[in-house]
Amino acid sequence: MTSFYHSTRSSADPVTSKQAILAGIAPDGGLYVTDALGGTTLALEGVCDQTFHETARLVLGTLLPDFSAEELASCVEGAYGPQWDAASVCPVTPLGDDWLLELYHGPTCAFKDVALQMLPRLMSAARSGAGDRRVMIVTATSGDTGKAALEGFSGVAGTGVTVFYPEGKVSDVQRLQMVTQDGDNVAVCAVRGTFDDCQGEVKRIFADRALAERLDGRGIVLSSANSINVGRLAPQVTYYFDSYAQLVRAGAAKLGDEVTFCVPTGNFGDVLAGYFARRMGLPVRRLVVASNANDVLTDFLTTGTYDRRREFHKTISPSMDILVSSNLERLLYYASDGDCELVSSLMADLAEKGAYTVPERVMDEIRSVFSCGRASDDETRATIRSTWDELGVLIDPHTAVAKHVLDALPADGSARVCLSTASPYKFSADVLAALGEKVEGMSGFACMDALERLTGTVAPSQLSRLRERAELHDDVCDRAGMGAFVEAACERVLG
Ligand SMILES: *Cc1c(COP(=O)(O)O)cnc(C)c1O
Repeated sequence: MTSFYHSTRSSADPVTSKQAILAGIAPDGGLYVTDALGGTTLALEGVCDQTFHETARLVLGTLLPDFSAEELASCVEGAYGPQWDAASVCPVTPLGDDWLLELYHGPTCAFKDVALQMLPRLMSAARSGAGDRRVMIVTATSGDTGKAALEGFSGVAGTGVTVFYPEGKVSDVQRLQMVTQDGDNVAVCAVRGTFDDCQGEVKRIFADRALAERLDGRGIVLSSANSINVGRLAPQVTYYFDSYAQLVRAGAAKLGDEVTFCVPTGNFGDVLAGYFARRMGLPVRRLVVASNANDVLTDFLTTGTYDRRREFHKTISPSMDILVSSNLERLLYYASDGDCELVSSLMADLAEKGAYTVPERVMDEIRSVFSCGRASDDETRATIRSTWDELGVLIDPHTAVAKHVLDALPADGSARVCLSTASPYKFSADVLAALGEKVEGMSGFACMDALERLTGTVAPSQLSRLRERAELHDDVCDRAGMGAFVEAACERVLG
């Protein structure tokens, strides 16, 4: 029971959820999965009477069974405390005939806070009693993950965090969020290159044996806060149950009614958490995967072939600009009834050829739950504008991708929830432009102010107060310098 998780590529060598969280990825390159998912139905009636915090304890207790109830209670208390500017943590609000699940009320104004406020606490609880090696978290970011990881891990004892972002390729506000981060245990560095350069080099650093040995000699181990970590996936399951409970309490659904969720998707972590919720007993009619111009998932769900050999598009929903959706590997495992051999061979095809084709029986299972759709940048802008003009709701470009896709689906009588993954003020310039305003030559803060004036809404103070904060991190390096930066950061912040 406690050795609960094993790799998607082999059921040998099971580990506890604590071990899975500390390791991040399985030694064979697979992702950790549990076979207990189907056998653990949560009592819905109870969930509908519960607070977000109670539901979080229940969900985490089910998915991470070797943590004690006391450990989880204290993790939940700390992760979803006063750093959230909504008392209910992830509120559900009306969106015309549909509903908006607002996941952006955390400290960095993006949905990644739901998981990254929790992961450091789970890691600390997992480490206590497991020796006293210190951990350096190393992360590459295209914008949102970096700040959420800095905020989550800042000040955590025995842990450091290093973030690399591509110089000139994140929004003004996203850059400021990172370079103004305080805390004695954080390091931030811009890289002359793309996000893929950052990500590729971080992967190489994790595989660098000589570096690992040098760090080991100083009692330090490298780890990742990537969205493939079970400790990031599990907390996201909570808001599917909690939002369902909110719909029932609002009278928008009756207990037991099926609900459809539409999810702006990049790495497939968020929508996979919805699939977990469904397997744990939540009445989910459809999970809708919404993509931007990087529509590799739309093509996959339509054709059964995943093909990453395509042009990469830079869009106004940058957190979804991704060609390899890592968490899809977990869906392949579950949809094939745990066929590790099949998953291994598909992943080998992806590595060798850049593409794989999934057998029809597995695609049938996937298509029985998942729908899909895409939105171009123009469609995304038009949706931001119409949602504001017609419904008076201001949404960010990622949320607008999902809203566009949801609007294109035929109504099926079920209550429909659009997941809202970031505050519109994180992308003020693009949102302002979508509303028809001129933004050329304006700074991020000028756009923020203009957006407030135009809409009469208020920017979250976490973002508007960035202008008062000092820029603390000005390091820039080439891809080749990232390894040395990590080693120096270990010396500087972990001693
Ligand atoms: C990360 C992110 C996404 C994509 O989520 P995945 O779990 O990677 O599919 C969508 N929107 C925003 C704002 C994000 O930061």
